[in-house]
Amino acid sequence: MAKKQFKAESKRLLDLMINSIYTHKEIFLREIISNASDAIDKLCYVSLTDDGVGLGRSDFRIRVKVDEEEGTITVSDNGIGMSKEDMESNLGVIARSGSLKFKSELSEEDAEKADIDIIGQFGVGFYSAFMVSDKVTVISRAYGADTACKWESSGADGYTVTECEKEGLGTDIIMHLKADSEEEKYSQYLDSFRLKELVKKYSDYVRWPIVMDIEGYEKRETGEMDENGQPKTEYIEVWKEETVNSMIPIWQRAKSEVSDEDCKNFYKEKFHDAEEPLAVIRINAEGAVSYKAMLFIPAKAPFDYYSRDYQPGLQLYSSGVVIMDKCADLLSDCFRFVRGIVDSQDLSLNISREMLQHDRQLKVIASNIEKKIKSELKKLLTNNAEAYEKFWKAFGTQIKYGIVSDYGMKKDMLKDLLAYPVSGEEKFISLEEYAKKMPEGQKYIYYAAAENVARASKLPQTEQVLEAGYSLLYMTEDVDEFVVQLLGEYEGKKFCNVSSDDLGLETDLQKADTQRLEDENREMLDFFKESLGDEVVDVRLSHKLKSFPVCITTEGEITLEVERYFRSLPGANTENLKARKVLELNGSHSAFEALKKVWSEDKEKSAKLIKILLCQAKLVADIPLDDPAEYTELVCGLF
Ligand code: ADP
Repeated sequence: MAKKQFKAESKRLLDLMINSIYTHKEIFLREIISNASDAIDKLCYVSLTDDGVGLGRSDFRIRVKVDEEEGTITVSDNGIGMSKEDMESNLGVIARSGSLKFKSELSEEDAEKADIDIIGQFGVGFYSAFMVSDKVTVISRAYGADTACKWESSGADGYTVTECEKEGLGTDIIMHLKADSEEEKYSQYLDSFRLKELVKKYSDYVRWPIVMDIEGYEKRETGEMDENGQPKTEYIEVWKEETVNSMIPIWQRAKSEVSDEDCKNFYKEKFHDAEEPLAVIRINAEGAVSYKAMLFIPAKAPFDYYSRDYQPGLQLYSSGVVIMDKCADLLSDCFRFVRGIVDSQDLSLNISREMLQHDRQLKVIASNIEKKIKSELKKLLTNNAEAYEKFWKAFGTQIKYGIVSDYGMKKDMLKDLLAYPVSGEEKFISLEEYAKKMPEGQKYIYYAAAENVARASKLPQTEQVLEAGYSLLYMTEDVDEFVVQLLGEYEGKKFCNVSSDDLGLETDLQKADTQRLEDENREMLDFFKESLGDEVVDVRLSHKLKSFPVCITTEGEITLEVERYFRSLPGANTENLKARKVLELNGSHSAFEALKKVWSEDKEKSAKLIKILLCQAKLVADIPLDDPAEYTELVCGLF
């Protein structure tokens, strides 16, 4: 029969498995058992609504069997099974493309090490059978199918699928072990004690019984009598079926029994993440609704996190049955990065997935979970700045969107989690800490906004704030401005963008001084305003500036950042969404004196100079010039 070829990606992974130099090949058993357990989960869920399955909760099991003579290990389950099409699409292509993506992100020299890491950290599912086998046979009968199918492959040269006989639903994975070599004794896996040890080590938490025939000795009477007239006994070898695993899932165990390390390893395997989670949240709630939960805060956003493809949600169990793989209704949108498991006996098993979102119990759990996540993040912020910074880099944007979405419904809960880069320090600072550290007399929470920290810190207006001895927050995301506007204040302190017209830093004396200077130069300032047309609403003198000759500030609600945001929206009509810009001149800068002189001698030339200064102020403030060619021409005209 003609062999079918594996898809290219699968072939790569398969090669990786067959030629694996990975030293912990024993994990193949964990992977195969984990698939068997998933398959049973699926059929168990179906059996809740379909009596035709003919199996009850207590009938499900995974069987691990050794045939020493044949040199095979067989893992059987009575789960959902695979049809011919399932086999083609599931075993012919690699499901966990995430593992390969992880690898492609690495440099060449790390590639070999990466092969090892992929296997060690993600596991690689079904294909890991090829680390220890030179042939794998899969016999399966799917729920709803009349016939069974056999898939067989000896590795990279392809696979065959044929029809065959099989009693009962489910799947047998038959692994024909490789011959022993110098480096690896594959025959060790034919020893049932060794195999039992592996099941206990890696699959103890699997919720379905994993049964094995284990060799033992039994005392029995021989039928003869000894010299004392007592029946003679002897020990004979017997094989007994044993359930090898304890079947208590990790989240059901007492906190004292499971270390943080155990939970983190569980996370890495379960959610195929190479990195340890930043925090583990364990909940054991009893009361109106009882449930257990084990939640994780990942250290990194998955590559598709900020795309439409990302599916948030927690895995939901009810009385040990998986009801849903990703129950989004359990997670507030602002915490959609959290992964984990919720297990409650109080949810009705027969509830449809559509009805679930209206379920009162579910709502109680969801709101509880939200509180727990918030307090865990707060704890991280207070106790582990380094971890929080990692979290913030990965998911800070999400929290900010959480604040502004739904008209700020969650803003009070989330505002304490906000953190920003701050002047004079390498690290982020929380709003809370900033507010706490504000010196007496500081009226506002000052912030500078630009595309990145380097630019924000170079805005001319920052000088005055820093000179006053105050710290500045740097805001670099579009959403930041909306967060600030929505919050308005924090702990009674209003926010103040350094680009706004009044920073509240000028003394009455300075104000009077500026006023006097403006009055003296009124005619010139009016001339400049006139010549700049509708680019600015005013031209003023300012005390904000130290070393820069000019800057742009804004009046009113629409700041430069809001304008920038609207400008970035495709197809937006931004005519009415322009910031009211004010050009401020530094009265003590030499450029001002020069400007004055030109104005008194040559009005036309002074109009050109003020235009150049406006363009410069715009460039520093990161506002694109409407006509860069005109600016270049103006500058060249000076030579
Ligand atoms: P993953 O388990 O991460 O999806 P695998 O490569 O281990 O990746 O398995 C691929 C797919 O093959 C599974 O998603 C499942 O649909 C199917 N599969 C594997 N083993 C079994 C089994 N014992 N019973 C039913 N389906 C299975």
